Amino acid sequence: MSLPPTRHTQASLVLLLLFLLGSGFLTTSLLSYYASRDSIRDSIINTELPLTSDTVYSEIQKDLVRPILISSMMARDTFLRDWVLAGEQDTAQMTRYLREVQEHYGAFTSFFVSDRSSTYYQSKGVLKRVKPDEPRDVWYYRVRMQPEPYEINVDVDMANADRLTIFINYKVVDYDGNFIGATGVGLAVDAVVKLIDDYQQRYERSVYFVDTTGRITLTGAQGGPQGTKVGDSLADIPGLSDMLEKLPSPQSGRFEYQEHGREHFLNVRYIPELEWYLFVDKHDKALAGIRQGLYINLLLCLLVTAIVLTLVSLAIRRYQQRIAALATTDVLTELPNRRGFDILAEQALQEALREQSPLCAVLLDLDNFKLINDEHGHLAGDEVLQRFARQLRDKLRQSDILCRWGGEEFILLLKNTDRQAAHDLAEKLRQQCAQQRYAIADQTLQVTASLGLSQWQPGESLHSLLGRTDRALYRAKQSGRDRVCVEQ
Ligand code: GH3
Ligand code: MG
Ligand code: MG
Repeated sequence: MSLPPTRHTQASLVLLLLFLLGSGFLTTSLLSYYASRDSIRDSIINTELPLTSDTVYSEIQKDLVRPILISSMMARDTFLRDWVLAGEQDTAQMTRYLREVQEHYGAFTSFFVSDRSSTYYQSKGVLKRVKPDEPRDVWYYRVRMQPEPYEINVDVDMANADRLTIFINYKVVDYDGNFIGATGVGLAVDAVVKLIDDYQQRYERSVYFVDTTGRITLTGAQGGPQGTKVGDSLADIPGLSDMLEKLPSPQSGRFEYQEHGREHFLNVRYIPELEWYLFVDKHDKALAGIRQGLYINLLLCLLVTAIVLTLVSLAIRRYQQRIAALATTDVLTELPNRRGFDILAEQALQEALREQSPLCAVLLDLDNFKLINDEHGHLAGDEVLQRFARQLRDKLRQSDILCRWGGEEFILLLKNTDRQAAHDLAEKLRQQCAQQRYAIADQTLQVTASLGLSQWQPGESLHSLLGRTDRALYRAKQSGRDRVCVEQ
């Protein structure tokens, strides 16, 4: 019979399972994590951000186109030009004209600056006179010199408590093409700010504008990314500081950057009318979610692996115990067999040595058993052996060791028993055996037994003890059977 699996093979089986389950779970978890991460990333970079960017961009363009048209009409207006050429006589006329335009078209502000008198007219009257050395009037002298018919300028509006305003500054020329002033309308950026807020809330992303020098020019009501405000530079924002060199000039682009361990996706779009970049920025909230999902997944896999390994270990241990029990038990009598005896006897001998207690061995062989088989059949013989073994076991103490030595031979190890007590017990067993009747089928069978006995001498090997006991049994057989002989 092959030996039951050892501890070593059990450990390697568990390790192999651990490896297989672990690598399987890890691979599937990581694969699904990377797949969903890539698809989320893909949808953010290729769909979500460009869409938001496009929408904000087209809203801004829509808001800008109308004012450009209105300003263009003002620049071509014959009343305005005639009024200037006639010497700017009646201020009220100009004021009424500007008010009409402003109210009718819903503009935030309207203006005309005369080149001849340097007067700045607006809907409420004369605002001031422009001067070349006044920083706030730089725009006028710039428009005056530029070849293009108009410019869009984002500036604070002095006529409206310095609110941030998008001005359309149109050149006005007389009928001969000579520059005579600048006119146009302005619109408040509040509408754009509202739009930004709306998108930020709806899609959980930051929307803001940056000028070509890297300064934030327009944000939602709550400010720019990471708590920044209008006027702050990209150079001071973590993760965005090297953005200036990367900025597409003047095109659109996609970027990814890290801010305090968070991944950001950024869509940048250049708006030529404003000379601003539109930034749409989204951090990886969704990615953090699936990363958390991965951790939970891995934890569950760990749990499942632990449960599977525990169950497998328990099953292996139980089978090992069963195999070990089968290997050491005699099937017919259910007593320990020779292999079982070896284990028990070694322990008993060590115990006797340690406790310096007497120990006796008794070999018992049924007499002329062959005749029982011959006369009543092998099955009847088996039955006798079975019953004899059960009765013998019942007559012994719990601490006594009884094994089937082979065939119709049994061995007894009597712990804490000296020769005299062992002899008395052996004699009693012999008598009881001789008196016992076995009713099998319709017959009554009877067997006698010969017993050999010897006392273990401290330090003596099991082999030697058994040899001496066997000699005693031999003598019992030789001297006529059905008796107990003691080895001297
Ligand atoms: P002795 O008094 O000299 O011991 O004579 P014996 O016939 O008992 O001895 P021997 O060694 O010649 O024969 C033993 C017999 O026991 C022969 C064998 O068939 C029988 N035997 C051994 N094991 C079993 C068993 O498991 N079942 C049955 N039915 N018989 C068995
Ligand atoms: Mg025999
Ligand atoms: Mg026999």
